[in-house]
Amino acid sequence: MKNKNKEIVIALSKGRILEQSLPLLAEAGIKPLESIKESRKLIFPTTNPKIKLLVVRASDAPTYVEYGAADLGIAGKDVLLEAECKNIFELVDLKVGKCRLCVAKRQDTAELDKTAILKVASKYVKSAAQYFAEQGRQVRLIKLYGSMELAPLVDLADCIVDLVDTGNTLRANGLEVAETIREISSRLIVNRASFTLKREELLPIVRAIETAVENRKN
Ligand code: AMP
Repeated sequence: MKNKNKEIVIALSKGRILEQSLPLLAEAGIKPLESIKESRKLIFPTTNPKIKLLVVRASDAPTYVEYGAADLGIAGKDVLLEAECKNIFELVDLKVGKCRLCVAKRQDTAELDKTAILKVASKYVKSAAQYFAEQGRQVRLIKLYGSMELAPLVDLADCIVDLVDTGNTLRANGLEVAETIREISSRLIVNRASFTLKREELLPIVRAIETAVENRKN
C-alpha cells in the first residue's frame, strides 16, 4: 500500500495491546471512525482524515513498519526484541501492555538447577538465548508458537520463557515464575525513512501521543 498525499498509517497490535492503546490514542486525539472491536475490518479511518489505522497480528506489527506499509506502529517490546528490524526507531515507551518476560517452571518441581543444561521452550527464543548466555548457562531451546504452558507438563521442557501479567495463566496450569528476565511494555515505533520524509506530519502525532503518556503519570 502506497502512502499517498502524506497520509499517515499506524499499525496497531491486536489483542491486549490494542485494548490498552486505543484509549491512549484517543487521548492523543486519534479515534477510529467505527468501533474496531465490533468490526472485522483491518483498516480504519480516523477522526483525523490524514491518519489511518491498521490492525495487525502483534508479531507482525514491526514488519509493517519495517517495510514502510505503516509509518508508525505500536508493538510490544517482547516482539521488538525478537524481530530483526533495521529500519525502525523506537520513539516512545507507551507504558501500556505492561507485563514481565519470565522463566516459569512447574510448581511441583525443585528450583531450576543453574548448572544443568535446561530444556527451555519459548516463542521468545532470541530473548531467552540472550538471557541464559549472559549468565553463562547452557540451554537447549525449543521454539513454540503458543500454549507454552503445556511444555513442562508433558516433559517437553524443564521450563518456559513467556510473558506474565497477572500470573493466572501460569497458576491455572500448575506453573510458577522461577526467574524474571525483564519488564515489557508497548512502544511507539517509526519507519526510519518515514521519519525523515514525513517529519512535518509525524512530529505533531508523536508529540500528541507522548503528551498523552505524560498526562497519565499525573
Ligand atoms: P496472565 O495470565 O495475566 O499472566 O497473562 C499471561 C498470558 O497472556 C500469556 O499467555 C502471555 O503470553 C499473555 N500476555 C500477558 N501480557 C501480555 C502482553 N502485555 N502482551 C501480549 N501478551 C500478553
